[in-house]
Amino acid sequence: MKEQIKAYNSVLDLIGNTPLIKLNRITESLDGNFYAKVESFNPGHSTKDRIALYIIEEAERQGILTPGDTIIETTSGNTGFSLAMVSIIKGYNCILAVSSKSSKDKIDMLRSMGAKVYVCPAHVSADDERSYYNVAKRLHEETKGSVYINQYFNQLNIDAHYKSTGPELWEQTNGQITHLIACSGTGGTLSGTAKFLKEKNPNIRILGVDAYGSVLKKYHETREFDSEEIYPYRIEGLGKNLIPTATDFDVIDKFTKVTDEESAHTTREIALKEGLFVGYTSGAVVQALRQFAEEGEFDANSNVVAIFPDHGSRYMSKVFSDEWMNEQGFFDSINREEVQKIEFIK
Ligand code: PMP
Repeated sequence: MKEQIKAYNSVLDLIGNTPLIKLNRITESLDGNFYAKVESFNPGHSTKDRIALYIIEEAERQGILTPGDTIIETTSGNTGFSLAMVSIIKGYNCILAVSSKSSKDKIDMLRSMGAKVYVCPAHVSADDERSYYNVAKRLHEETKGSVYINQYFNQLNIDAHYKSTGPELWEQTNGQITHLIACSGTGGTLSGTAKFLKEKNPNIRILGVDAYGSVLKKYHETREFDSEEIYPYRIEGLGKNLIPTATDFDVIDKFTKVTDEESAHTTREIALKEGLFVGYTSGAVVQALRQFAEEGEFDANSNVVAIFPDHGSRYMSKVFSDEWMNEQGFFDSINREEVQKIEFIK
């Protein structure tokens, strides 16, 4: 008998089981052992592949979705890309309402993956009819045979990580993980993974990363929604101007807030020190890790896992563009990292 051809049936078979990679130079001065769960190894290059596949397959199991139907979502880019990818393989249409804060590369990528994209103004309140939440809701009402993924308010977002990211980390660390640190947007990654890990060992510390300009940290501490906390910021996918039900605040021990500028420099530093070309929120998570270290969270025995949500190629016109960094005034800072100069051969 001939040997079988070793091929995957489609890209969907490659979702999840991402590697855990030790951080070496970037955490050199800190006490403890630091590891990154590098989610850009998913075929759609982000952690959102997990929830896209899980939520769509759950809808199929419940008989809500049949081929030819339409998937609708609000997204800063990554969830949209993952939904578009899964839609292609499974035969669905995909409509995405995105924030005008999203980079042009991200929007072009979504269109290249067959999605219909609506760009909505970023700096309007969540209840404004032009907000991407309300645009998606309206499109869902107007489109027959459509499913609204609604990642901020969908329990399945938490379940996807409870069933995949959590068990993977427990196994990869042989149960020796002491701290989980992740950015919170919808909160699905952080709270779903945390819920699984806390069930295994309630002593594991769960550390959340929020942005200045977002309400999550204050809500975690006071259970009060404070609109005074809200102002525009640059990082996409991190923090929020509302309280998502996909965040289980009870499993999170502590939050810290990070700035656009420090996170941007740290993102560039990860590439230069670890050879890992990852996105803006990966920089945010390492920046937060440093802040938590200063607060005395870690000691020599700590095994800290940081989630790196996506790939650097999505930020070529932002964090990895010198022009963009200049426009933001980020190069005025004293900690400018040493990026090689271009030499032109004449
Ligand atoms: N980083 C990036 C780049 C994201 O797109 C998101 C999702 N909004 C997050 C982090 C946060 O993940 P979650 O929504 O699971 O909290």
